[in-house]
Amino acid sequence: MRSVLISGAGVAGLSLAVWLRRYGFQPTLVERATALRTGGQAIDIRGAAREVVTRMGILDAVRAHHTGTRGIAWLDENGNRVAAMSGDDFGDSGGIVAELEILRGDLVRILHDAADVEIRYGTQITGITEREVTFDNAPPQSFDLVVGADGLGSGVRALTFGRGSELVRDLGYYTSYFPARTELDLDGWEVMYNLPAGNGVAGRVAVLYPLGNTGEIRALFGFVSPELAREPHDVPGQKALLADVFAGSGWEIPSLIDQLQHTDDLYFARVGEVRVDRWYRGRTVLLGDSAFGGSLGMGTSMALVGAYVLAGELAAAGGDHRVAFARYDSEMREYVRQNRKRPPGGANGFAPRTRRGIRLRNQFMRLLPHLPGGGKMMGGIQKSANSITLKSYEGMPSPRR
Ligand SMILES: Cc1cc2nc3c(=O)[nH]c(=O)nc-3n(C[C@H](O)[C@H](O)[C@H](O)COP(=O)(O)OP(=O)(O)OC[C@H]3O[C@@H](n4cnc5c(N)ncnc54)[C@H](O)[C@@H]3O)c2cc1C
Repeated sequence: MRSVLISGAGVAGLSLAVWLRRYGFQPTLVERATALRTGGQAIDIRGAAREVVTRMGILDAVRAHHTGTRGIAWLDENGNRVAAMSGDDFGDSGGIVAELEILRGDLVRILHDAADVEIRYGTQITGITEREVTFDNAPPQSFDLVVGADGLGSGVRALTFGRGSELVRDLGYYTSYFPARTELDLDGWEVMYNLPAGNGVAGRVAVLYPLGNTGEIRALFGFVSPELAREPHDVPGQKALLADVFAGSGWEIPSLIDQLQHTDDLYFARVGEVRVDRWYRGRTVLLGDSAFGGSLGMGTSMALVGAYVLAGELAAAGGDHRVAFARYDSEMREYVRQNRKRPPGGANGFAPRTRRGIRLRNQFMRLLPHLPGGGKMMGGIQKSANSITLKSYEGMPSPRR
């Protein structure tokens, strides 16, 4: 049986483990965090990714956790709702909220249960050679294959491909997610509140995502800025930076800053588009954000599809990674290219710099569902989400010994 070491127990790593076990491989996961990371807002499962969760047999579980979010609304500076887009504008996979929407944490838990695999928490890979893999807190061990499914800041990518800035194209903003509570009655709507440039950065945005009517929310804080010289790499530093950037604002922001200080589940990232011209080198391969991070809203769908294709090609090649990695790369390239096309406005549409820019963006969002070419302006999300034909890998032989 071929042994596969997967770095990162996120959507990509866990899905890959599900498929590999099904095809007779032996996956082991290492995860830097000390427990499964269940943070994050809702994510959309669109197009081909929906077919993947169906084939995996978890569609019913995913549907049972459907968020039921009614849509997204944009607020003015006083917190009044000025524009809205409901879940069914632009078809079931084409709108801002897709028909199959689930909290990232629920999806991670479902995949974790389906994978039923050993996860070594609090562990990172420190070196990869042809013979063995070394860890920060465990003896070296041999594996047949190594997969980097460790997100945008991938450690495996750094070890195998280097850290050069040519590998990640900077997209000009920071994003963060954390759990919180609100007294606001959101009535099932996700809300977006913008602030103009201030406190040393350009446009700023807060998004509140309701968990039913419980008062619990998942909050997003994002801001546009050149890479900060003082960019913190530790959680206390990241919390302090976010508090500085959002200080002095109204609406729900002071309460969110306060809650941010107490969370033990902050995701903080400089957003970049990963540009690796071949996703494998020797026995090592990249998957998910580590390989093709940088999509706005399609990262999870691409991770699900990528895991399906990578495991399937490994099975189809009888475990011969040279054949399988090359096929995985060529099957996925065009789909990834399509899904990383930017919607209009990019980061500045998400977090405009000026009060006027915020007002214009809100007006545009108010009109968009009523414009004849609105779907096209949304960047043809539905078409891109379906831009891969999934092969059937069922009945593939077990890997060679
Ligand atoms: C806590 C969290 C919250 C998120 N929230 C959202 C959200 O609300 N909306 C959204 O669109 N996207 C969110 N994302 C990103 C989204 O999950 C991914 O874009 C997408 O699902 C692809 O997943 P991935 O598995 O490739 O990467 P990720 O989901 O980033 O998972 C990577 C995993 O690898 C682990 N890891 C990182 N470095 C190492 C290392 N050196 N060694 C071992 N393990 C490592 C991480 O802890 C994480 O568990 C979030 C990610 C995380 C981790």
